[in-house]
Amino acid sequence: MSRPIIATINQKALKHNLSVVKNLSPKSKIWSVVKANAYGHGINNICFSLSDTDGFALLSIDEAILLRELGWKKPILLLEGFFHPNDLYLIDRYCLTTTIHSQWQITALENFLPLNNPIRIYLKINSGMNRLGFDFKSIQKIWKKLISLKNVYDVTLMMHFGNAGNRNEIIHSFKNIQKLIIGLNCSCSISNSACVLWHPEVHYDWVRVGILLYGASPSGNWVDISNTNLQPVMTLSSKIIAIQKLKIGDSIGYGCNYQTQKPKLIGIVACGYADGYPRHAPTGTPLLVDNKITQLLGTVSMDMMTVDLTYCPQADIGSNVELWGNHIKIDQVAKSAGTIGYELMCSLTSRVPIRVI
Ligand SMILES: *Cc1c(COP(=O)(O)O)cnc(C)c1O
Repeated sequence: MSRPIIATINQKALKHNLSVVKNLSPKSKIWSVVKANAYGHGINNICFSLSDTDGFALLSIDEAILLRELGWKKPILLLEGFFHPNDLYLIDRYCLTTTIHSQWQITALENFLPLNNPIRIYLKINSGMNRLGFDFKSIQKIWKKLISLKNVYDVTLMMHFGNAGNRNEIIHSFKNIQKLIIGLNCSCSISNSACVLWHPEVHYDWVRVGILLYGASPSGNWVDISNTNLQPVMTLSSKIIAIQKLKIGDSIGYGCNYQTQKPKLIGIVACGYADGYPRHAPTGTPLLVDNKITQLLGTVSMDMMTVDLTYCPQADIGSNVELWGNHIKIDQVAKSAGTIGYELMCSLTSRVPIRVI
């Protein structure tokens, strides 16, 4: 038998989450964000369940081509645009929508051979994160320049918030973008998952939704989405492969950073940081053993971790362990380890088999 760890991808939950997003943002079209191999879920495993979406957004042209080869005919958006002028051949051939965030890309478009099909552009505004994009003041001029190019079909304004929890930031940008949209009479895409949940006034024409589709919280706090009926899509589970009876003062794992205060039954689970479980998760991080909530003890090893069986004395070798999923939210584990659900999903490693249900 193979090692018992497995990640299960629930297609029904994914479909359901897309319908929740549609209800939250009924007037907008939806870019389902599937970058980073669909946040670790596998593009192959999720794209058919999301077939009701209006488009897929991602970063790499290879992932875009994969979607086309799987039969996806609707729009695909490259969130970071192209990385070299020659990428325009592929953008043309596979009918991709591309972000433009820097002057060199505009020059490349201008100097490129006539494309078979002029392309759709997302013009990125720097809303204050200072990663990609042009500042508000220069947008009008750039927009006019782009729209005049033969290789350009149309131009949509795009923006991304670094702090969608901050109402003042949203309101400030909202005023600026509103002026631009009225002046240019163009469409616009601003909202990520956080804005879809908390700022309906900025949904506009297209929303770009990632984390909500996978059933985790954009804030990193599960309670923030607990009333939305979103369902976790990924369950990471494994089994207990050994049991130890410890006496008072025995220690557990590397660094011996956990010592028993009283006799204790512990279980060894076939899951470690080489599977993508966070090594920084401390003693006390929740897990589910045999349908009972219990806790991690000691330091997570590369291939194993230790759980407290005090509260589940019926547990035995072969007992099922949920690391995250429907009962133990990925956001809870992430918070305990000092990170966010996004990172845990993306960190699942290739040695973990994926089962799609
Ligand atoms: C990743 C990404 C998104 C999706 O963010 P979520 O918080 O997962 O909804 C939206 N827009 C851009 C530009 C992104 O890079």
